[in-house]
Amino acid sequence: MTTYKEFHGRSISDPQGFWAEQAALIDWKQPFNKVLDYSRPPFAKWFVGGTTNLCHNAVDRHLATRRDQAALIYVSTETGEEKTYTFGQLHREVNRMAGILKGLGVGRGDRVLIYMPMVPEAAFAMLACARIGAIHSVVFGGFASVSLATRIDDATPKVIVSADAGSRAGKAVPYKHLLDEAIALSKSPPKHVVMVSRGLAPAAMVAGRDVDYAKLRAEHMNDEVPCEWLESSEPSYILYTSGTTGKPKGVQRDTGGYAVALAASMGLIFCGKPGETYFSTSDIGWVVGHSYIVYGPLLVGMATIMYEGTPIRPDGGIWWSIVEKYKVTSMFSSPTAIRVLKKQDPALLKKYDLSSLRLLFLAGEPLDEPTGRWIADGIGKPVIDNYWQTETGWPILAIPRGVEALPSKFGSPGLPCYGYSVKIFNEANGEEITKHHEKGVVAIEGPLPPGCMSTVWGDDERFVKTYWTSVPNRQVYSTFDWGIRDEDDYFFILGRTDDVINVAGHRLGTREIEESLSSHPNVAEVAVVGVADQLKGQVAVAFAILKDAGKVDTLEKRLAHEGEMMKVVDGQLGAVARPARVHFVTSLPKTRSGKLLRRSIQALCEGRDPGDLTTIEDPTALEQIQAAIRG
Ligand code: AMP
Repeated sequence: MTTYKEFHGRSISDPQGFWAEQAALIDWKQPFNKVLDYSRPPFAKWFVGGTTNLCHNAVDRHLATRRDQAALIYVSTETGEEKTYTFGQLHREVNRMAGILKGLGVGRGDRVLIYMPMVPEAAFAMLACARIGAIHSVVFGGFASVSLATRIDDATPKVIVSADAGSRAGKAVPYKHLLDEAIALSKSPPKHVVMVSRGLAPAAMVAGRDVDYAKLRAEHMNDEVPCEWLESSEPSYILYTSGTTGKPKGVQRDTGGYAVALAASMGLIFCGKPGETYFSTSDIGWVVGHSYIVYGPLLVGMATIMYEGTPIRPDGGIWWSIVEKYKVTSMFSSPTAIRVLKKQDPALLKKYDLSSLRLLFLAGEPLDEPTGRWIADGIGKPVIDNYWQTETGWPILAIPRGVEALPSKFGSPGLPCYGYSVKIFNEANGEEITKHHEKGVVAIEGPLPPGCMSTVWGDDERFVKTYWTSVPNRQVYSTFDWGIRDEDDYFFILGRTDDVINVAGHRLGTREIEESLSSHPNVAEVAVVGVADQLKGQVAVAFAILKDAGKVDTLEKRLAHEGEMMKVVDGQLGAVARPARVHFVTSLPKTRSGKLLRRSIQALCEGRDPGDLTTIEDPTALEQIQAAIRG
């Protein structure tokens, strides 16, 4: 048997041989003539000359053997819907959606923006885009008009697929007015909007632009739309993610490399087998939803569960009842979700038959040891923490138990996954840190393995500048996370090096929130920091200087103003980005050169020492922060 160490070693010393073997996991129309072209670093091209199609691999190729096997299992505790689509039925629905999109003029390379709640039509739309070679850009349904408009402008979609509403804890969350506002704000409005009506909220149709999905579906009932064979490096999708600047980055994914990477990870990391059922509790708007609700499981002929609802409705046993009913073998969730469950009756963990379940995977934010232990003991299954990013598309660190069942260590997402040469560097001089337990920036040596981002959509320079020049004197990919490595080579992730915060596993840029709050007419200046939170990992906390401080001179007025500012964020970015608190101050701590001392503010909020303050311009600013927190 190969040890994991040997397996990983070979993936780094012989990437071409290693990935050529993994490439056999998917169907190729034209075989590739070169495994890797890294002649223009850091741009890596995998499986050069090969042609393939994600939808073919996720759906069509299973028809011969699995036509009547479950493919997409939809469970909504919001609407009470529960429906299983077999591979045969999924194939039909995807063909209909592909027919609709083609009918609206969408072709290879065109962008389609998908702004949808967790409904099967969202998956049909993604797969339909893949089928016809269109590039999807899924925008999380919790984002609001300004976030959406920025993404419309950057991706310039020909068509948007959307719905009347999502639903959260039994209450409809209308989408259409946000979409209409976003389109009104955008400089490149789409030609058409395909509207899926769930009957949850009114959605006025715009004549000539908006079309009704149900009506079109009936017209395209029997469409057979052939798969478009794409060269491996052609883009499959764009997914926006936050960074240091206010403008979100469009992570561009290729086609062949992504298909191979996901197919490989399903067996090697997630230990899933064809015919089994995979359950990821994420949302299609995030990378986990792309990789492990839609594409990964289907690529290897597993059924995938798409769940709309909270973890605690009708009660905290809902997910375990789904595991029992559908005999889930691998489950993927987030630490925040488990912390939510931890507040529920622990008997719910024992109420259902979980014998089908092998492993529970948790990712998206640091997994604290008490939460990890609580769930591992509660369900009696190994818990696999895994660390990755929107940019990478699949885990960077994990315990790839499909190769060797090495032990997990609480607090550590594990070892570098095969294909990743992960190192730690000193952020000031770029020297590699080889000493155990010494903190540095976690970075990956090029080439990035298959499945990782190929570039920033429309901005190669930004890709190079953002990711590959931040560690001094090195061309390595920076994760923008601090980390250490222990004597067994297990990594520990210690938080972001940049202004990105992680709220309940959702990645947000503090600059975006600051920009949004600044648009309130009474705001002169504002600072947003991420503050440790027991439930959500982190929450955003804002400190604002007002133009007219008279508007907050009583407690009542202060609360009202805080509420107003939160509403601005809700309406522009979405409730996910809403700060937990907005405090009012008359000055913000800055260096003499005008740089905001975010880290000091954050430290004070977390009850820590604010650090080196020798360069601070006005020390009373910190006192104000302290007073504001004390309330
Ligand atoms: P996203 O692109 O939204 O998936 O966010 C990626 C970021 O989330 C990483 O850069 C980390 O800061 C954080 N993250 C993801 N998974 C983990 C994990 N298992 N442990 C610690 N941090 C994580």
